[in-house]
Amino acid sequence: MINPDLIINKKNWSRLIRSWKNNKLAHALLFHGPDGSGKEGHAVELAALLNCTALRDEEPCGSCPSCKQTKSFQHGSVKLILPLPRGKIKSSGDPVTNAFSESVLKEYLDMLKEKEADPYYSIRVPGANTILINSIRELKHDVSLSTVNNEWRVILIFQAEKLCFPRAEAAHALLKVLEEPPEQTLFILVSSKSRAILDTIHSRCQSIYFPPISTEILQEQLQHSGADSVQALVMARISGGNVRLSRELIQNSTDLMEKLYIFLNACFSIDPSIWNKCIDTTARLKTKNIRQMEQLFRCAVLFFRDLLYYTATDTDDEIIFKNQINKIDKLSKTYSNADWHSCIQHIENTQNYISRNGYLPLQMICMILDIQKSIKGEIYEPFKLSDWTPV
Ligand SMILES: [Zn+2]
Repeated sequence: MINPDLIINKKNWSRLIRSWKNNKLAHALLFHGPDGSGKEGHAVELAALLNCTALRDEEPCGSCPSCKQTKSFQHGSVKLILPLPRGKIKSSGDPVTNAFSESVLKEYLDMLKEKEADPYYSIRVPGANTILINSIRELKHDVSLSTVNNEWRVILIFQAEKLCFPRAEAAHALLKVLEEPPEQTLFILVSSKSRAILDTIHSRCQSIYFPPISTEILQEQLQHSGADSVQALVMARISGGNVRLSRELIQNSTDLMEKLYIFLNACFSIDPSIWNKCIDTTARLKTKNIRQMEQLFRCAVLFFRDLLYYTATDTDDEIIFKNQINKIDKLSKTYSNADWHSCIQHIENTQNYISRNGYLPLQMICMILDIQKSIKGEIYEPFKLSDWTPV
């Protein structure tokens, strides 16, 4: 059985099954598409399928020893490659195990368990920013050996763009084996940033695109897990089709909406104490939970995008914050000459500066002042957002 938490892309899955049944599976696949579209989950399921000993309806059974080992990343013939820290690695000939200190190894094993349970979980090993050439050298050695019982050897390469970053030595090392792989060997490269992958790698892989998950499906899933319909719709739209993000957002939605209120209130207020509250909130998020800070900026951008869209079209069809439509209508009419597009740019630039360690309080004040200039209409009084209803 395929992990029930994975939203299967039926088109891609049946295409892969067809190729496999006709003995025409390419020896190297590149699963690409945005974050949270299920690429890694599909790669693991395909690896499980190839060696499953009790296939059911063209799906891996999920319970035979081979499926269990594949899905828990313990299968001897299924190798997982992803960015790792350098650790004690001194030269390209050192074993990959030198990348792990005791504590990093423990964290890594915990992450593998999380990944087994949640196909949308993203493994990020602390201190890792590249796929080590040591991993590729070890892989080449493994690939040269034969597998037990004529099993398929599957090489999963997650965050495959990191083969080429910051240097492309791992990518170059991979090229030859990618070109002439042994029989019964499948490479599945997975990437959300496939443009960063060298053309020479692209040309050796069959590309399979995983689009974002539709709002309807996400909304349904979120409702299924207990969210009400408006909350589910807003969070599904904010997530932009990213399953992982939608699940994180729904868990944290009330808090996030309260913080968004503080952020927006500062943008429409001339009271420095309100600005301070916004700066404080953002600074705390940056220290405690950078992902939540990113989500706050994302929501602020989307709120201004709603204002831009609503002002330009006077319709609410595509509005993300449907639950704030009265507020959006009022803001759009109060500031009818506002340049909402510039406001979006100010927010995006500020997030950029802050993530590059710009001085947060100063960046935030500049952003608020820039936004107020772009709003154009003079702000005589703080704009009260008191009818804000957190979802
Ligand atoms: Zn099985």
